[in-house]
Amino acid sequence: MRRLIGGALIVLMIVVIVLRERDTGPERVDREFYVLGTLVTVTINSEDLDTQAAETAAAAVESSLRVFQRKWQPTGDGALGQLNATLADNPAAEVPAELQDLLLRAKAIADDSGNTFDPGLARLVRVWGFDDPEHFRETPPAKADLDAALAVPHRLAEAQFDGQTLVVGRPGLALDLGAIAKGAAVDHAMDTLRDAGVTAAMVNAGGDLQAMGQAPNRPWRIAVRHPRPLDDDRRLLAGITLADGEAVFSSGDYERYFEYEGRRYHHLLDPTTGQPAQGTQSATVIHTDAALADAAATALFVGGPDRFAELAEALGVTQAMIVDSQGRVLATPEFAARVDWLADVSFAPQSPAQ
Ligand code: AMP
Ligand code: MG
Repeated sequence: MRRLIGGALIVLMIVVIVLRERDTGPERVDREFYVLGTLVTVTINSEDLDTQAAETAAAAVESSLRVFQRKWQPTGDGALGQLNATLADNPAAEVPAELQDLLLRAKAIADDSGNTFDPGLARLVRVWGFDDPEHFRETPPAKADLDAALAVPHRLAEAQFDGQTLVVGRPGLALDLGAIAKGAAVDHAMDTLRDAGVTAAMVNAGGDLQAMGQAPNRPWRIAVRHPRPLDDDRRLLAGITLADGEAVFSSGDYERYFEYEGRRYHHLLDPTTGQPAQGTQSATVIHTDAALADAAATALFVGGPDRFAELAEALGVTQAMIVDSQGRVLATPEFAARVDWLADVSFAPQSPAQ
């Protein structure tokens, strides 16, 4: 009889320990999925949320990002694909309600960035073949193909919103939200998690990420990769400890590129020339607005060293850096003051911080 009671007590104790862990955590839920052309990881560390609720919240993020993927696809039958199909033959088009906020936002940032960020360049991206990672080109496109894409409207800055209507003036504009979509998606993911009661989480979309609350017992800490790693032991450029709500987004010429006759042709295009932007290897922005961080990283990359300080200010970005084509860093004073350099860094003469 005693033995029986002893056995029952042990079973009871195990159940209590498991239950208590479920009730009070610390919990850690990780969910990984491919969406928007990248691997997204949602990590939830809320101590006062049970595992089931955290898993449900992470699943809700995945399904909403899958909806965005279809909506933001430049071709096909999603909302943006349909808008682009209309704009191909028309000088104006009604913007679907589900795209309005993001397009207005993109247009405002395009204007602030002096068109260094401009989502109107979908045709140029297609001519270069950077729209389809499975079919990369091995040579630059023919001049005639580039000229044809440049001969039609290829900047959202050329267009105006008239209520719900996007007025371009000539047919041919095609939009590509690739430089802001990940940021908008991460912002949305954070809202979804917060609404579900999550207080500590990290959403990482292929190295671009946003933090909520803290990692267990310490702040979230991340590292920015080196655009030209010297070897496997020196892959990192800077370490950053993140405050609640901060996002870190980077654009780099190492993400999508091919090499031809000794030159690197990458996916970050200068909307005015239609060519891969020169002068920068990578750009990184820290901001609590992930969509702005994303678009601004692209803008600062394309703007290059000479426009770094001016563009950061125009975009309302106080924490940013770029690495120029010679591997030198330009950083805002606020960025330089908070990061830990994990590689030997020399500053370019135009850098606001030295
Ligand atoms: P990101 O990695 O956020 O810099 O976004 C790069 C993607 O945005 C590219 O793959 C293109 O689809 C698109 N893109 C390239 N250049 C630009 C640009 N200057 N402005 C806006 N979008 C761009
Ligand atoms: Mg971007």
